[in-house]
Amino acid sequence: MTELNARDGNIPEAVQQQYKADLKVLVRAWSKARVSKTKSELATFQQQLDQTSKEYDSLDLNALHQILQTMQRSCDNGLEGKNTIAKTSADMDWLMNQLIRSNQISPDPFLSEANSLDEYLPKSSKPMAANVHKAIKVAIIDDEPSVGGAMRLMLEQFAYETTLFESINEFEMALTDGEPDLVLLDICMPKTTQSEVFDFARQLSLRGIKVITCSSLFNFETRLQAVRAGVSDYAVKPLNPYVLVEKISRALKRNINNAYQIVLLDDQESMGEFYQAVFSQVHVDFHFFNTAERLIAALEYLQPDLFLLDRVMPSVNGLEVAEMIRQDAKFDFAPIVFLTADEQLDTKLKVLAHGGDDLIAKVTPAPLVLEQVLARLERSAFIKSFVSKDPLTGVLNHGQIVEAANHQLRLNKRHANHCALAMVDVDFFKDVNDNYGHSAGDMVLNGLGQLLKSSVRETDYVGRYGGEEFIILFVDCDAEQAIHKINLIREKCSQMRFVQDNPDIAITFSGGLVSLEDHKSLPKAISEADRLLYLAKEAGRNQVKMDEK
Ligand code: GH3
Ligand code: MG
Ligand code: MG
Repeated sequence: MTELNARDGNIPEAVQQQYKADLKVLVRAWSKARVSKTKSELATFQQQLDQTSKEYDSLDLNALHQILQTMQRSCDNGLEGKNTIAKTSADMDWLMNQLIRSNQISPDPFLSEANSLDEYLPKSSKPMAANVHKAIKVAIIDDEPSVGGAMRLMLEQFAYETTLFESINEFEMALTDGEPDLVLLDICMPKTTQSEVFDFARQLSLRGIKVITCSSLFNFETRLQAVRAGVSDYAVKPLNPYVLVEKISRALKRNINNAYQIVLLDDQESMGEFYQAVFSQVHVDFHFFNTAERLIAALEYLQPDLFLLDRVMPSVNGLEVAEMIRQDAKFDFAPIVFLTADEQLDTKLKVLAHGGDDLIAKVTPAPLVLEQVLARLERSAFIKSFVSKDPLTGVLNHGQIVEAANHQLRLNKRHANHCALAMVDVDFFKDVNDNYGHSAGDMVLNGLGQLLKSSVRETDYVGRYGGEEFIILFVDCDAEQAIHKINLIREKCSQMRFVQDNPDIAITFSGGLVSLEDHKSLPKAISEADRLLYLAKEAGRNQVKMDEK
């Protein structure tokens, strides 16, 4: 093994194959040990573990070394009697599960040089340097140059970096220049059968490149093939530009491992420690509270995506806490899951009646709890993102952008972070409607929404405040950086043509920008941004004014 060295962060195919085989041996050894529940079998498993670890000593695979060491420590604790065999077994189940699950991902995160277990630990919620927006690379594979060319022009307007290929072959030959983030793949091409196209789509998905298939066909067969090839989405030709941009941003969002916030309330500290360990291996922000009072106080500044509540606690019970959480509209979308020792039907009904969503038995093995919680989180996050949007523009609706701004204000009181709020309003928008009709006006608003969203960071917020007014929240960004950024977007906007078949329609916008931290409440901040916006209009439009300090 030692002669096979990892280069350029890429683990050679031979090592990957070897690892697959070694993992199998390890799992088999563990299966034996966990069935027998004896120390002697645990010791045998530990020998196997030792041997496997040694194989990888010479490779710089931090995450793998760490998890194997954790397994060894757990074995030691079991053999020395520091932990019961049952506890050791539960821990090992879970660690093994991590290895197995990761090996289903390609490339396996444990076979990546740079990774360490830290990658899986919760990230602090205050990172980020400058407000940079990395260009997203989109490859278009379409045999018709006119169709591909039109898509290209349109996507470039939205700051996507595009390349056009007329065949899969041509694309493959260019791959050495770097991989795209996403491929728009025409499924009807001469010289390539549909099943070859879908095979190719599958390979791309396995390599972690997102694929959206594009076709004028949208029948049972092609849709099923697309699903089976693991593509992210399906766009029907003729393509509506804004639907496509929306699909692209949705496909790429799924790629981003946003840290979910999970809160656990349990009066037993040990439960907190246990679940902290369970969740520390996935990318979530985990917060533990041992009293209802502490949890409710923390909700001022925390925005959990899911609550795990103990049902029976000394002073305030879990059902009461669930109802208190449900009193606050900002948690409307957060699932509340109860951890309970009792699984009677009556208990389940009570949980549902008190605003809970689900019930997990405390005896459930940790890997299963993790899976259940993650599945719930993903579904609720999807529904939330869906209903939080303004249907015309695809950005946040009024309620959600106001909520996001309030949240930033609360964070600021606690952490003294910077957040700038810009209120922008289209100049002479009434004229667009009057001269070109309302539907052209709608297209402009849609395009502007997409432009704003694609020009800011993932962690920033864009919402439609009303009519032709938008709010942008630049998170972890001071007013100087934000004004620079918004002016770039403003210049970009003036050059864009949002209505594809009418190049005469061009718009500009004016804006007012404030630092949230300068204001006591959101209404105060918004009215100041409004005042500055008015000044910008007065001064001739197509400009953004900010607070003079
Ligand atoms: P100013 O530069 O002073 O902002 O001029 P303006 O014409 O943009 O301002 P005004 O407030 O007079 O007009 C805003 C227009 O926006 C009027 C309204 O019909 C239009 N509008 C608001 N919401 C929508 C919408 O959803 N679709 C369309 N097409 N138009 C909308
Ligand atoms: Mg206006
Ligand atoms: Mg207006």
